[in-house]
Amino acid sequence: MTAPEVAVLGGGLAGISAAWTLAREGLDVTLIESGERLGGLAGTIERDGHFYPLAYHHILRRDQTLLWFLERIGALNEVRWRNIRMLFHLDGKLWNLAAPVDFLRFPMSLADKLRFVRLMLRSFRKADWDDWHDRSAAELVDAWGGPGVREALFERLTRLKFRRPCDEVSAAWLGARLHFREGSAPLGFVPETNWTKVLCEGLTALLQDAGVRVLTGRRVTKLTADAGRIDRVECDDGTTVHADAYVSALPTEVYRSLIGADDTTDLFSIRYTAILSGLCVTRQTIRPDFYWMNLASLRQSSNGIFRLEALNPTIGGPGETCLNFVTHVPSRDDPTFGLSDEEIWSGYRRDFEQVFGHALEPLWTRLVRLPLYSPVFHRGYRNPPVRSTSWPQVYLAGNYRTFPSIASTGTALQSGVDAAAALLADHRRRTPVPDEIRAFRLRRMPRG
Ligand SMILES: Cc1cc2nc3c(=O)[nH]c(=O)nc-3n(C[C@H](O)[C@H](O)[C@H](O)COP(=O)(O)OP(=O)(O)OC[C@H]3O[C@@H](n4cnc5c(N)ncnc54)[C@H](O)[C@@H]3O)c2cc1C
Repeated sequence: MTAPEVAVLGGGLAGISAAWTLAREGLDVTLIESGERLGGLAGTIERDGHFYPLAYHHILRRDQTLLWFLERIGALNEVRWRNIRMLFHLDGKLWNLAAPVDFLRFPMSLADKLRFVRLMLRSFRKADWDDWHDRSAAELVDAWGGPGVREALFERLTRLKFRRPCDEVSAAWLGARLHFREGSAPLGFVPETNWTKVLCEGLTALLQDAGVRVLTGRRVTKLTADAGRIDRVECDDGTTVHADAYVSALPTEVYRSLIGADDTTDLFSIRYTAILSGLCVTRQTIRPDFYWMNLASLRQSSNGIFRLEALNPTIGGPGETCLNFVTHVPSRDDPTFGLSDEEIWSGYRRDFEQVFGHALEPLWTRLVRLPLYSPVFHRGYRNPPVRSTSWPQVYLAGNYRTFPSIASTGTALQSGVDAAAALLADHRRRTPVPDEIRAFRLRRMPRG
């Protein structure tokens, strides 16, 4: 079998890892990305010589594939780890549920608190959530915690994330999230910079070394078929790329608009939420100390506020506080997503004043709109297969295939590796990358 030529569509982390895994095995690979740089949702903003993520990003200690790639690009030694403080803002009060005093005072009965602890411990011990795929988050919380726990906390959290009640959200997704212990395990960062910049630049260099042809600033506008097979990719600048096989590392909603028809099970029923991310740098001192604050009352414009320098103290200039307001929006067609920057910032200023009791005084602000953020992991969600069943030489990558894992940089990278491995297997080739990732162990977690 001769080596196929491959076009990879979308230069986010899933597309990058797919392209690299294929090129390493000698395939001729072209990667097409509409942005000026590779990285997609893991992109970077530059301001006055400092670098910030498009929205808060931290490294998860259990994100095996991410850690493996960080080592591969020589950046793992630079990663530092910190315990962070997560707060809940509820009905005008701030709660740190990891602090015994706050936990005891939190408005939930003592019996429910004990049940809550049981839910957290059981979820932490359970790695495989297959048996909960068809059940709802409400069933999980009610069975292992109780309705009181659900009402007091989880109903608000699923509404924050997906604007849906627990009953409509997947139990497997919630369980996998609790298993990851995102809020209580140490989180990683790279001092003096934004770590996703280090990641994306390191991966871009890997692509170069592997000989991938990278076409940035070009939007794919059409996939054209001939005799039942995809024949070429057309881009908005007139570029046409012919290939023997294609990896779509695009959100499914974009892929659908390019191809028209694809009957692959569960593919086109996937819907994405959108997100608004407001970065604001100020010299104000903000108390109390926290990295991640959930605005759980659901009355604010933002659903969460992050203080990025609480994780990475060197992310901005000296003495600067870098706030990140985020708002989950049910879809990019929702009126909230179309509000003007001014309207959104006036909501965020109001939130700030309500929570901290004084006005926000920004040095600068920047609003980022991400129209396709996360697939909605509803009850009964199923990962589509890695191969399109309508188009034999189209392979699929992206976080919509990594359910129920928490959608992260690492799962995106893994989905690209999986698509590449499937394509290679169909051409009687093999990649060692999946085995190497599985065998990887994080040995040191230097504190920062
Ligand atoms: C608010 C927020 C917070 C997050 N926090 C964390 C965190 O703390 N830790 C963590 O590990 N992960 C985090 N993530 C998740 C992580 O960033 C994503 O899971 C990952 O980057 C997704 O990569 P992807 O390649 O699957 O998708 P994308 O990044 O969406 O890649 C798709 C790519 O396709 C391109 N594209 C779209 N249409 C076209 C077209 N027509 N032609 C060509 N190209 C096209 C896009 O420009 C994009 O580059 C966060 C994400 C967000 C948004």
